[in-house]
Amino acid sequence: MTEPTRYSEAPVVLPDRTGYSKPTPVAGCAGCVELANVRDRARAGGDMTTVSGCNVLMRKHPEGHSW
Ligand SMILES: [Zn+2]
Repeated sequence: MTEPTRYSEAPVVLPDRTGYSKPTPVAGCAGCVELANVRDRARAGGDMTTVSGCNVLMRKHPEGHSW
C-alpha cells in the first residue's frame, strides 16, 4: 500500500544570510533591475556588503536609486 504524500509541514524557507528580508525589484524600473543583477552577482561572489547596499537602494525605489 502506498501512502499518499503528506503536506503536514510547510516548506522551510531558507533565511537570507543578511538577516533581513529582501526587497523585490519593481517591475518596469531599470534601476531595480540593475540593482537585482548587481545583488545576484555580489551574492554569488560572497560580497554581502554589496548585497546589503543593493537591498538598501532597492528599498529606496520611491525616492530613487542614487548611489
Ligand atoms: Zn526602482
